[in-house]
Amino acid sequence: MSGTALIYDEEMSRYQLLWDDPVCAIEVPERLTRSYEAVKSAGLEKRCVPVSVREGTEEEILLYHSKEYLEQVKQTPSMSVEELKTFTQQFGDVYFHPNIYNCAKLAIGASLQLVDSVMKGKVRNGMALVRPPGHHSQRSAANGFCVFNNVAIAALYAKKHYNLNRVLIVDWDVHHGQGVQYCFEEDPSVLYFSWHRYEHKSFWPNLDESDYNTVGKGKGTGFNINVPWNKVGMTNSDYLSVFFHVLLPAAYEFDPELVLVSAGFDSAIGDPEGHMCATPEIFGHLTHLLMSLAKGKLCVVLEGGYNLTSLTQSVCQTMHTLLGDPTPLLSGIGSPCHSALESVVNVRAVHRKYWNFLKYAADPQILEPSTKRRRLENTAEENKEEENTEKEKEEKTEEKPEDIKWPEPLPRPAPPVQTVVASSTELESLPKGCQMLGKIPQKCIEEAEKIRKEHFQGLTDKTSSECFQHIVSILEKVQNKEVRNGMVVVPDVCASVRFAVQHALNSLSKRVLVVFVGDEDVQVDTGSGKVLLLQICSKEPGVVKSDYHVPVCLSKAGHSRASVMQALIGLLLPLAYEFSPDLVLQVLTSSSGLEMPVWAQVSSLLQGLAQGRTLALLQGCDKDMVGATCSSLSGSPAPILGPLGHPVDKDVEFIEKQRQRLEKKWGLLRNSFSESGTKNQDG
Ligand SMILES: [Zn+2]
Repeated sequence: MSGTALIYDEEMSRYQLLWDDPVCAIEVPERLTRSYEAVKSAGLEKRCVPVSVREGTEEEILLYHSKEYLEQVKQTPSMSVEELKTFTQQFGDVYFHPNIYNCAKLAIGASLQLVDSVMKGKVRNGMALVRPPGHHSQRSAANGFCVFNNVAIAALYAKKHYNLNRVLIVDWDVHHGQGVQYCFEEDPSVLYFSWHRYEHKSFWPNLDESDYNTVGKGKGTGFNINVPWNKVGMTNSDYLSVFFHVLLPAAYEFDPELVLVSAGFDSAIGDPEGHMCATPEIFGHLTHLLMSLAKGKLCVVLEGGYNLTSLTQSVCQTMHTLLGDPTPLLSGIGSPCHSALESVVNVRAVHRKYWNFLKYAADPQILEPSTKRRRLENTAEENKEEENTEKEKEEKTEEKPEDIKWPEPLPRPAPPVQTVVASSTELESLPKGCQMLGKIPQKCIEEAEKIRKEHFQGLTDKTSSECFQHIVSILEKVQNKEVRNGMVVVPDVCASVRFAVQHALNSLSKRVLVVFVGDEDVQVDTGSGKVLLLQICSKEPGVVKSDYHVPVCLSKAGHSRASVMQALIGLLLPLAYEFSPDLVLQVLTSSSGLEMPVWAQVSSLLQGLAQGRTLALLQGCDKDMVGATCSSLSGSPAPILGPLGHPVDKDVEFIEKQRQRLEKKWGLLRNSFSESGTKNQDG
């Protein structure tokens, strides 16, 4: 199933604040109209499947809200301005208008239309541009510009109508969606994740239960994950750190059947509420990282976002990714800041009891985070230098976030052809979006021959020469943006990798990422810093050459899915994002023992790098693996992995050993303050 739904109705812009209220003045109709116009003028709307909006029914509203509250809200269309003002006063940070009930019903209906379109297979994913937002509204209360809880109702509706047992809600709005938390805190079938500006409860909604140690209740214990931001100015690195070390491993272990996003973009740079520094491009990546879950079933529903420039840019970045456009390059990715890392450590510590992937997390809770200490004593005792620079950053961002300037995101054009495939052996039918590599230009033949003569004199057979020509030809097409990615079935995988790296560094690339799955000894020079070699293998290699050579030695026996995913999410992806390659080589050999669905996940997730510029090299793989690689390269979502089970103890130890070896050089690997050991301190 392919296709992306866009759901919007201008009617939802037809309400506004009717009296003076500085708190509510930022919630304006233009948030919605400008978002839609931006999507339209970027040419995204016409590529989407149009889905109409409908009104949410009373029955649907009552899935979460109380009858009394609904009856109250139903009275608002006939109220005078004075009556509306009085009515509003019983709630916090919200306003009513004669048309808001109508719009709130449309916002629910739009969210449910999106769920229906995705669950019925009409589209793979989509976005609902709605207003009013929903995630603060509670069973019997409007709150924080929200009237009805669109995403909570969407999850309840999906569970009811499609018999779903596991729904993941990712709330990347900068505020805590306490209304969603309250709805599902005792429900193990909905995993609710939220990060939010908190500053030790000094930021709205100032709740104890927004902190990291609120993990759900009763049967729902462990299924509520809160990541508090205890200072402002969080960056792309901080957001990625939380995805790699908290959300994604939990999400893969949870194995959702549907993913909903409470997509507030007040967590983007320039927002007067959030005061964060993450750029709009990050939402293109966060979206990508969620698209391999639940077989790509992803519903994005607008929540907050009050800087119209960063809001509309972020909406477009999200839409581009939903539509399958190449993800943008991110620069300057590295270690999370001290405060973000403290939050990551604390979330991991309190959730260790509930999640297999955290079984070996080493750190205890940090009961007195540095930000709290600073708040209390106002003196910097430790990390003086870091605190000073962070403080400066904080002061700068706290002055006037709306005055901050950032570069406009670059266009994200997709090459006309997604995937080309070359093979010296016959291949069966190719998936949609894939085509066979055509005639090889003379120039490429000469180039291949030149490199062969210089570096591979021993390989004179016709098959090797052909293979080298295929590699040169595909890499040229990728470089010229004629195709996005390619695959070559090769006779000699080690020679092919070395050849591809050589050719890429000669003319096309500054940084090549090689992800090699198999036991072969890959003789690629990693000393220059231009090549990062990540190898999933079952034999421990003799010599580890540099900080750019990362073998991940996992026990064989088909490789435990949990182990491979733990290595991929907690080690390989952070390394890859920080390295920021401009070309990715995905290499798979028959010796790998990797299962097809796991390889498909590896392949899909890696395509968020290098703007999707990927060459897959396969040796000796069966037709399922070749087919899965083609599918993944051509943009199909990876198959569901199912329950991951426990990672193998020995594997986790090895992964952790590598993480600790490398975290000084590669800061995005940091998820701990402890230098020693992987032992669970609780025994
Ligand atoms: Zn918000």
